[in-house]
Formats: sequence, C-alpha cells, structure tokens
Amino acid sequence: MATKHHLRSLTRDEFLAEFKELGQPAYRADQVLDWVWKKRVDSIDGMTNLPAKLREALKEKFDFTLPIHTRTQGSVDTTRKFLFKLHDGRFVECVLIPASPALYGEKSDRLTLCVSSQVGCAFGCKFCASGLLGFTRNLSAAEITSQILLAEEIAGARVNNLVFMGMGEPLANWPNLSKAIELITSDWGIGIGARHLTISTSGLVPQIRKLADHPRQIRLAISLHGATDEVRSQIMPVNERWQVDELFEALRYWNSRKKQHLTLEYILIEGINDDLEQARILAKRAKGIRAKVNLIPYNKVEGLPWKRPSDSRCRQFRDILQSAGVSATLRLEKGHDIEAACGQLRLQEENKVGELS
Ligand code: SF4
Repeated sequence: MATKHHLRSLTRDEFLAEFKELGQPAYRADQVLDWVWKKRVDSIDGMTNLPAKLREALKEKFDFTLPIHTRTQGSVDTTRKFLFKLHDGRFVECVLIPASPALYGEKSDRLTLCVSSQVGCAFGCKFCASGLLGFTRNLSAAEITSQILLAEEIAGARVNNLVFMGMGEPLANWPNLSKAIELITSDWGIGIGARHLTISTSGLVPQIRKLADHPRQIRLAISLHGATDEVRSQIMPVNERWQVDELFEALRYWNSRKKQHLTLEYILIEGINDDLEQARILAKRAKGIRAKVNLIPYNKVEGLPWKRPSDSRCRQFRDILQSAGVSATLRLEKGHDIEAACGQLRLQEENKVGELS
C-alpha cells in the first residue's frame, strides 16, 4: 500500500492537486489548509466546516498522526527544551529561547525556536551528543513543522525566529528540509519570514550551493570550529570530505546569490582550537566572505574530555577578530544548565528507555 501523505507535509499546490483528484473544489483545499496551519486542529474531525463525508475521505487518504509532547526541561533563564515522541517511538527535541535583554533590550519580543531535522546524526562532530548515538532516520517535513506548532502551543506564544541547530544535519535531509522551508515561510503555512530562518550546517558543500540557489532569502550558519584543516579535522570529521578552502569557495558562491550575511559558529575548546593564531586566520577568512563570527565557549558534554577555555582567553580570541574589523560576538550559551547542546535531552531519554526495557 502506498504511504499516505501527511497533512502537514503538503504545499498548497500539492493540496490543490490532491483535492482535484478527490473531485473537490479548490476552496475546500484552502479550508483544510486553514484548519491545518492557522486554526491548528489536531484531528480531521475537528475540521467542522467540512461535510462529514469529506472528512471520512480525508481520513482514508491522508495521515494526520502528530508527535506527542513527553517532557519539558526549563532553566533559570527561561530557555526551555521540549521532548516529543514520534509515531515510531523515536524522540526528537527542540529548544525555545526568549530574547536576552542584554542582546536585544528589555522590550524585545524575539522568540527563537531551535528545531531538529533528523533523529540522531551521521556526522559525528566531536563536541556533539547527537553524534554519539549515530544516525537513525530523517525527519519528515511534517515532523519538522510539528515541532514549531507544538512549541507554540505549549508556550502560548508565536515563534518569530527559527534556527535549524537541533539534532541532525539539516542539509543531509534536503528533500524534507526544502519542503519544510516552503511550509514554514509561506503565508498560507506557518508564516515565519525567510529572513528569520537560519539553517546551520557542518559544511556540506554541494548542498550549500543548492541552498544558495533556493529562491527564499534564508540565512546560513556554518559550524566551523577551526580555521585550518589541521584543527578543524580534529573536531569535525566532515572536514575530511570537504576541506576548509572548498567550504569557503562554496560560501563565496552563497554570497554571490544571497543578500544575508553569513554566520560562522566557533565553539572555543581549550587547547584544541583556542590558539590565537587560529583567531588571526579566522579573521582573514571571515573578512573575505563578510561573515560574522559567533564565539561559544565549550559546553561540557557528558562522556567527552574537552574543557572550556578561561574567560580571558575567550576575550583575547574575540578581540583579535574585532580589531581585524570582523563582527564577533562572545556569548555564554543559553540553556547551559539544561544541556541545550543538540541531542542531549534525547540522549538522556533514550538511555532511560534503555534502562527500563
Ligand atoms: S553538530 Fe550537528 S552535524 Fe554535527 S554531529 Fe551534531 S547534530 Fe550532527
């Protein structure tokens, strides 16, 4: 039997085609879109302006199973992490981050959600808990978008800034990611502006070029963590496949296609990549592509030996970038006390399930 399409995975054009096949007028497709994305019902029976017969036909034709919220971890700075159970018993997580008054002012209503794109991850970046369990599967576009709807429902607020920095390498899930981008940024969908959507990647060069050609003006962040191959390869196994020069060539291509500035993420790890020579090389590279740099002192991961550098070393590193004219921020990672680095809540939950079974 063919797999049923999920109602949260179809674009408006696909909806129109499906409804045509059902012998239904276009306005019925728009009514269903409205129930799915604006009124946000959680069952087809909740779509009360549809005739009962059509609701039965929709149940036959489409899937509408939704992830279940199983756990929330909050923290003192009000960053919250949510864990959702998927239809196959797997877990996925996302993190809701309110604006820091220090960065955005007391009155900012910026609400960021960090979403996951895969269950587990195959890329094995050495600082990341997701890499410890390996890759399980891609998330569907419905599972990606459902994280946003569920987080908004729990928080009672609208997310206005979205980052793909949770579990998984989003660019390794290209078909579902590009579909999700359309569902998230369209007016008939979730309606978050493309400029408020950031895709973070470990550096998959061919997909960076593909994303550069995508018509929406989305933002891109690169998990860099080393300015030379020697240093980066110690942290990012993906660097063996696409080395730093090749990566920056793709970023120059991105620059030629998009208006938004790029962001380079750089986790500072004591004795591994916090040498000040790395800062000088990074400054040159960042200037060449007009990128801003986010410096993040390392957040300890259970089971990994690395340490966070001293605050003064972090500041020295930042100062070198800034005096070279690069926009560089040094931030204390939000959610530090709830282990907000990607994959960690899921890791705890699966260990617990493992202990119980
Ligand atoms: S940082 Fe991202 S790409 Fe790297 S292992 Fe973790 S989830 Fe995968």
